Order: sequence, then C-alpha cells, then structure tokens
Amino acid sequence: MAIAPQLLPETPADPLDLEAFRRNGHALVDWIVRYLADLSRHPVGAAVAPGEVRAELPAAAPEAPEPFSAVLADLDRVIRPGLAHWQHPGWFAWFPAMSSPASVLGELAAAGLGVQGMMWATSPALTELESHVLDWLVDLMGLPQRWKTTSAGGGVLTSGASTSTLVALIAARDHCRRRTGADVEQMTVYASGQAHSSVEKGARLAGFTRVRSLAVDQHFAATPEALTEAIKRDRLLGLVPAVVVSALGTTGTTAVDPIGEFGRVADANHLWHHVDAAYAGSAMICEEFRVHLDGIDRAHSYTFNPHKWLATNLDCSVLWVADRTPLNRAMGIEPPYLHNDASRSGHVIDYRNWDISLGRPFRALKLWFVLRAFGAEGLRGLIRRHTQWATELSERIDRHPRLHRIAPTPFALVSFAHTAGSAATLALAQAVNSSGRFLVTVSEIDGRPYLRVAIGATWTTRHDLDRLWACIQEHLATEPPTPREENPWEQ
Ligand code: PLP
Repeated sequence: MAIAPQLLPETPADPLDLEAFRRNGHALVDWIVRYLADLSRHPVGAAVAPGEVRAELPAAAPEAPEPFSAVLADLDRVIRPGLAHWQHPGWFAWFPAMSSPASVLGELAAAGLGVQGMMWATSPALTELESHVLDWLVDLMGLPQRWKTTSAGGGVLTSGASTSTLVALIAARDHCRRRTGADVEQMTVYASGQAHSSVEKGARLAGFTRVRSLAVDQHFAATPEALTEAIKRDRLLGLVPAVVVSALGTTGTTAVDPIGEFGRVADANHLWHHVDAAYAGSAMICEEFRVHLDGIDRAHSYTFNPHKWLATNLDCSVLWVADRTPLNRAMGIEPPYLHNDASRSGHVIDYRNWDISLGRPFRALKLWFVLRAFGAEGLRGLIRRHTQWATELSERIDRHPRLHRIAPTPFALVSFAHTAGSAATLALAQAVNSSGRFLVTVSEIDGRPYLRVAIGATWTTRHDLDRLWACIQEHLATEPPTPREENPWEQ
C-alpha cells in the first residue's frame, strides 16, 4: 500500500507552493483510495499497545521542512497500524461513523476554502448554504415546517449530538428561568434511564443538578407514566420541572421513547421537549420510519447526526429548534468587533448566536456534496439496505436456539445475547472480535451483557453480513460447553 516514492519530490518543497500542493493532493487522494480498497485485507481493530504509536514518533517536532513523501510514508508506517478502521466493511461497533467520497471531497473543499462562518458577514455563502441545506432536510425528513430558517425556528450544524443537546439544554434552562424566575438548582430534567450519557453530561454542564432517570418498559423505552409521576413528585418537593429529553433511538438498543405522549406531558407542564435522534434521525429520510415522529410538531428542539448514518464525515450534527428566539437569547453575544450592518439589519442569520463556539467551519459543504452525489433516493436506498440486512440478521438470530434477541430492531442495530448466560455471551463476542474480520460492541443493561451489531459502515455489503453470521454460527457450533446459567434476559 506504500506510495511509490519516485512519484513524489525528494526534497521538501516550499510549503506554500501551489504546484507541490496539487501533486501532493493527488498523491494523498491515491493513498486514501488504496487505503479504502485494501481495508478488508486488514484486521478491523487497532493492533497496538498503549504508547506504541508515540514511541514511533520523534521526541521533538521537525526543525527543518520535510518532503510530503516522508509524511505519507509515516501515514502507512505509524498511523495506519494504530487505527481502528471505522470504514472497514466488517465494522459493526458502536454506531457507524459514515464517510463517503462526496463527503471527503466536501471536507477538502471546506479546508481549501478555509473560510470561517461565525456570522453571515464573514462568509455569506457558508451561512446561507447551511440554512438552505437544513431547510431541505426538514422537507426530506417530513419534519415540522416551523423548523425552517424561513419560519420561526431553524437548523444549525454543530460538532456533535452532545453539543447539540448541551446547547438545547442551555436554551431550555434560560427559557425556564425567564418564565418562572427559578434558579437552575431548582429545575429538574427528565430523560430515559437508557438516554445517552450526553444528556446527563449536557445537563451537568448547563448547571442542572437534578436529572431524573425514567424507568423503561420491556422494550427499553421510557414510559409517559414514569415521566408524569416524576414531575408530580418534584412539584410536591417545590421544584421546577424544566426539560424532558426523549430518545428517538437509544444508544443501547435504539428504543424509541413515546415522543407524542412526552410532548403532551411536556406541554401540560410547560417543559421544554428536546428529542435526541442522534443515530436514528437519518432514517427519517424514508417515509416508513416516520411513525416514530408522531407528535414531533410539539418538540422544542431535535438533534440528529448525519455523521453517523447519512454518509457524511464527522463532524456534522444537526440541531433544529422550533423557535430560534430562546436559543439566540441564550447563545447571543455582541462584542464591538463583531458589529456589522448585516447583523444590525436583522435580516441575516449569525450562526455564532446558535452554538457555543464563535469560529465555525464550513460543515454544510460536505452535507451538500453528499445530498447532491447520492440524491435523496440514494440516501433512502442506503438506509433501506442497512435496515433490511438488520431484519435478515434478526430473523437468523430468532431462528437460532442458542441466541436471544434482547430488543426489537426498528432500525439497523441488532442487539442479542447467548441463551446460556452472560459468560457464553461474552465468549461469543470475544470470538467474533478476535477474528479480526469484524468488530461488534458488548454493552450491558442491568448488568446483563449483550452484543450490539450496528450495520451501517459505508462499505459493508450483504456479503459481509453473511460472513459475520457464518463466524457466529461457527463459534456456536464449536464452543466448549460452558456451565449453563439461566438466560438473564428471560428472567
Ligand atoms: N445521542 C445518542 C442517542 C447517541 O447514540 C450518541 C452517540 O452515539 C450521542 C447522542 C452523542 O453523539 P456525538 O458523539 O455526536 O456527541
């Protein structure tokens, strides 16, 4: 996979020489293509011990310029072996971090342009493309028209769902303070016991000290009864219920909280309703998944990550709000060096008032490239392929006497365990991961381990799923007898 050194200049070029940039850029694209094409011949996981990568790096930064050929050679020698290969077709771990050629080119274009979009005036096209693409997505995903920047709300691209949720929680906190005069210490936040850790972290960072974890049902979705009860209890304590976060696709099992019912409870109690659809939100591009959006028109804010499952590179998370005023009030700041006529006119969006960081990259470019390269139908096809393969894997698991699917498969995550108990489940995961051909995640609920197979890496094919299934079957056919425990998922 090494790049032929004769193609590259032996001596370092002037680092600002554009002709050298052109040559090196071509060489780098060639390197990326080879990396991706060769991936399946390498183990999925990183094969290094802690400190091994650093040990290969010089103790001090280079004093003199080095040729790009040396940098590329070190990409091969030092960096590649120290990576877990998220784009490997056998990648089934956590959730996917999708990438695609169009997205990579969008990143490159953004880097090449090197613009900074803290406000409309600092790069009008950056701001307007961002608003426009996110308005397109509102239509493509059947979301409320009110969320468009041409209406009362609007969308912004942030670095991740954690940031999006933090920003929403800050807006919600300030909104509650204005409405009730309460201090954040008196306010309460509600989220499923299966909510992503970013909800608790965001709440903590936003100053909330009272985060209530709601009980879940047999499918790991939080229940409206648990929410209503928790609110009632807190009111009796003289506290101020402020925010509820619904999960549209939990990280553990992609459970979907009852968004419509949560919305009704939120409305009745004047709560801000934030929806975390970080992973599953991408599926809303297909109409058949929109049953999960029932009641979404009452939500105050909603986040999803194109960088998980919409063929777009990290980082790219969408935050939509139904009303941008509370968000802009919470995030807005007006130092004199940022004053300009466009901002004063009130006719432009200044995205610095929608997120935490002031400086912001041209994230919309890669999303725009992706939408144009795939077309909506291409993206729908991708989601449908992944969910179809997840259904097929689920059916295979359901038919196998020694496997137990622990949760429904509404999207493309399949969660299952060994019926012989936790030790057998862990041994199965170990067998799959130590093959080097696949990587799955082991998680647990209430101390019970299970395997998560998240389908959605860009280059995965149905054939890879067949091979994964063959690997699972092979282990089950040859596994040594383990002391049989009760199936913890059936208790
Ligand atoms: N919310 C959910 C449901 C997630 O699954 C994740 C990550 O997997 C996040 C939030 C955090 O996303 P990010 O890594 O973009 O901050």
